[in-house]
Amino acid sequence: MIAEVIVDVPAMGTDRAFDYAVPDHLKELIKDGIRVIVPFGPRKLTGFVVAIKESTDLKRIKPIIDVVDLAPVLNDELLQLGKWLADSTLCFLHSAYQSMLPAAMKMSYKRNIQLISESKIVELDTQIQHLFQESGHIDWDKLQEMDKPVVRSVQAAVDEGLLEVEYNIQSKGKKKKHKVIQTKVAQEELVKVRDDLEKRAPKQAGVLNYLSEQDGDGITLRQVMEDTGSARSTIKSLISKGWIEELEQEVYRDPYENRHFEQTIPLELTDEQQESIEPILTAIEQIVHKTFLLHGVTGSGKTEIYLQTIETVLRQEKEAIMLVPEISLTPQMVQRFKGRFGSKVAVLHSGLSKGEKYDEWRKIHRNEAKVVVGARSAIFAPFKKIGIIIIDEEHESSYKQEENPRYHARDVAIYRGNYHRCPVILGSATPTLETYARAQKGVYKLCSLQKRVNKKTLPPTSLIDMREELRAGNRSLFSEALFEGLKSRLERKEQSVLLLNRRGYSTFINCRDCGYVAQCPHCDISLTYHKRYRLLKCHYCGYEENLPTACPECSSEHIRFFGTGTQKVEEELNKLIPEATIIRMDVDTTSRKGMHEKLLNTFAEKKADILLGTQMIAKGLDFPDVTLVGVLAADTMLHLPDFRASERTFQLLTQVGGRAGRHELDGEVIIQTYSPEHYSIQLAQSHEYLPFYNREMKIRKLHQYPPFYYLALITVSHVELMRVVDACEKVASQLSNALTDQAIILGPVASPIPRVKDRYRYHCMIKYKNEPNLKRVLHEILDHYKKEIQKNGLMINVDMHPQTIM
Ligand code: ADP
Ligand code: ZN
Ligand code: ZN
Repeated sequence: MIAEVIVDVPAMGTDRAFDYAVPDHLKELIKDGIRVIVPFGPRKLTGFVVAIKESTDLKRIKPIIDVVDLAPVLNDELLQLGKWLADSTLCFLHSAYQSMLPAAMKMSYKRNIQLISESKIVELDTQIQHLFQESGHIDWDKLQEMDKPVVRSVQAAVDEGLLEVEYNIQSKGKKKKHKVIQTKVAQEELVKVRDDLEKRAPKQAGVLNYLSEQDGDGITLRQVMEDTGSARSTIKSLISKGWIEELEQEVYRDPYENRHFEQTIPLELTDEQQESIEPILTAIEQIVHKTFLLHGVTGSGKTEIYLQTIETVLRQEKEAIMLVPEISLTPQMVQRFKGRFGSKVAVLHSGLSKGEKYDEWRKIHRNEAKVVVGARSAIFAPFKKIGIIIIDEEHESSYKQEENPRYHARDVAIYRGNYHRCPVILGSATPTLETYARAQKGVYKLCSLQKRVNKKTLPPTSLIDMREELRAGNRSLFSEALFEGLKSRLERKEQSVLLLNRRGYSTFINCRDCGYVAQCPHCDISLTYHKRYRLLKCHYCGYEENLPTACPECSSEHIRFFGTGTQKVEEELNKLIPEATIIRMDVDTTSRKGMHEKLLNTFAEKKADILLGTQMIAKGLDFPDVTLVGVLAADTMLHLPDFRASERTFQLLTQVGGRAGRHELDGEVIIQTYSPEHYSIQLAQSHEYLPFYNREMKIRKLHQYPPFYYLALITVSHVELMRVVDACEKVASQLSNALTDQAIILGPVASPIPRVKDRYRYHCMIKYKNEPNLKRVLHEILDHYKKEIQKNGLMINVDMHPQTIM
């Protein structure tokens, strides 16, 4: 028996399966999709078994050392999906498989240097003897930090066979266990023993009495000790007498353990909802794959449609995947799914610890959960009978992974929907142009919800031209209208939400005399000012420096920070409306686990008047008393060097507007901007998706961008500028030789951020419609440069269908 194994060395030359012999004692265990430990050169590594066969062409093969898992972690579908993922995103197979599993299942390799036998210690060079005296081994990493002569001595001892390198492979995550107590004798006997003990050992009798009254086995040791007030020694004597036993039981870390979720029942659908859900239910019934675009304004009841389709799927004993963007994975969202489906729901998001994520994954893997609600990577949930896949807010850019494998969850969803012959729903109030265009062409089926469920119209939105405010002498961050709006809400005891759009906007340091801007010395980007620590920080590489008191260029003292951080807005608000209570939500205030939820709860309980935050507050929130939504600077994102800038601005403004007046009270939206004439701001004001779509499509067509063309981005980087330019030019000419005439090759040009972590960056962009040679030539390019990568550190990255071009 021979197993083909994809080994954990994601590199160009090793990106294929290797044959290993299956030793007899492992024959029963080795199956496709299981992880094994194999010898690889001098190393011991893990790998995924992808096939099992009778024979191999190779003369000498090594045996598998051991298995990591007792059951496959990837099923046949996921093994196949991994191949497709590696091919379509041009990543290594091992990376594709690894990315389908929770981070806790990544293996860590620890190396120790140990004595072959205790007695050999005397033969060691005296200067290293003491290293091995205590435990007989030393850590490999520690050795690297020691002096050269010591390292040489150790190496020599390895050569002489006194020391050896030991490889330890461990999973990064651990299963959590706790101790439980079980009785070992029948109930009648237990009662008898208890009565016997009553006088002699009342404590022990008490414990037995307690246990005899419990129904069901496996009460935790802690519980028993707490409830009976007994000591560990009491339990121990009972164990030694053989009446009870202590077992280790695996437990799930449940992040929602102490939460109660009110059970909800399906609502009667509105006519519009009914019309939209019908074709989806038909597809579920007929077991066919079809992709639906559910285009519905905010508050039109899309989530209720998701809930009811999932319910249908569960009745068929199938499973459901529900993706939501990371930032809208709010407690409110989780509550709606847990409320309807209870413990059948597993939740996966970045707020969970590694261990919690691992446990949620295991619930899915063991088929104990039937519905997964999660962010991007939940698309790889190891279900076996998927009945529906839903992607809410399908326009969110976080569905694309910005590191290898650079996959888009939408593509994976459609792949899996095809495999399981089940429908895929893409839901949004502001679908991407790509998705809407496909729906118009009939590739996806379009279902529209045009009205809000509560029959309320979308809130009136006003645009405030901040240039005019300035002309009128208002230098504050708040226009007159927004200031008045906030004040009146305070008087009426209603709540407001303020959005500060920070993307493309930074709090940088600038000298008013000479124009100097503090830049990261390793990346071509301005440093961001962090007030709390009085530090300047680079968001790309983490570089920090102290805040200068004078300009490093001209020594002027007129150096100050520009731009508007949430902290600055908060300060100004405190001055303007001191009586208001403000909750600030940004990366700083929500980085601690659970803070996000805590702040939102405080706001929901009406303990604050104003919720001030970045993008993270724009989505999914639903507070009945919010009647004013203000956007402080609508256009900060509009001028980014990205062809999707207008689309992103339109999406964000439309989303945030949807947060006001969702319930009884009427809402209002105030958008402050320096470009009130821009169509994406104007059309967001009037909540008109289709005119925006039509207008933007014309521009995309004119400039040959998606959805009219596909894009591929090749980025080359190196510490020496000339190397980068040279390599990128070669790439460009290789592309133009290989591709057909319809492909357009742009570049080489410097990337919008031309240097990151001391590496210069250049890129080439390919625009294409149908390009039969593209994959082949990209593979050739990657192959060609593999040697350079190893030799002199040139890096090359291919991003198929890039979402950002930074
Ligand atoms: P969306 O997901 O489109 O933003 P939601 O599903 O959140 O919309 O619905 C908005 C509100 O309307 C929610 O409070 C929801 O409970 C309510 N709702 C949805 N469908 C119905 C219905 N058929 N009848 C009554 N209320 C509904
Ligand atoms: Zn200066
Ligand atoms: Zn930097």
